[in-house]
Amino acid sequence: VLEKLVKAEKLQIVSHLAASISHEVRNPLTVTRGYIQMLSEDVSPQTKVKYATIALQELDRATDVINDYLTFASICPENRERLRISAEIKEVVNSIKPLASKNGIELKVSIFADEAYYIVGESKKFQQSLFNIIKNGIESMSEGVLSLHVFHVAATIQIKIQDQGIGMSQEQIDRLGEPYFTTKNTGTGLGMMVTYSVIKSMDGMIYVSSEQGKGTCFSLNLPIHSYESN
Ligand code: ADP
Ligand code: MG
Repeated sequence: VLEKLVKAEKLQIVSHLAASISHEVRNPLTVTRGYIQMLSEDVSPQTKVKYATIALQELDRATDVINDYLTFASICPENRERLRISAEIKEVVNSIKPLASKNGIELKVSIFADEAYYIVGESKKFQQSLFNIIKNGIESMSEGVLSLHVFHVAATIQIKIQDQGIGMSQEQIDRLGEPYFTTKNTGTGLGMMVTYSVIKSMDGMIYVSSEQGKGTCFSLNLPIHSYESN
């Protein structure tokens, strides 16, 4: 089992997300526009099919970029608040359920942390971070169980997300969070960048352990908010 503490320090880019999104979405839209324009020209039926295929692929890419960045996260100024951990987790799980069932993956969720535990952060960004990790877990499996455990350890909340997927090499683990790092044909390589940036901004830690062919476990550690400091 490879165990690695991945430092989120390498990235300080939360504030640059908005700029990147428009760039990342504009490119595929420009390509799509070009191919649709060419469709109206006098070209063979085979060529038309080719152009249409490319246009659709590029549109899907734009959608993926938006999903990885913006399923929840709105582009708004920092808006930190006290978040009830159980409520946040439940919302994320509800929104990922359709993807899990579409891929035939069973989601198992257990929350051992008291209802009263709070963390501090931006709800939408935090949910996006969890969503991106769970989504990768689902995408790494052809079948099986993805489990999510939440419990409290000393002054932190620990969230463990375990999949039974293809796993990662040490080199892949080391590159997690790097913009555009992807091993997928149609990946964006942006999901983990968002997750690492957001968790870092919450003073959290991300630990990854993975075994190729067996699965991956992401552990997030987040400081519990104390009432006194409010
Ligand atoms: P994308 O999902 O678009 O490829 P991400 O930033 O979400 O981009 O993930 C980057 C890469 O990290 C993935 O392409 C994959 O190689 C690897 N990865 C992340 N999570 C997992 C996982 N649970 N199992 C296997 N590989 C993973
Ligand atoms: Mg992803």
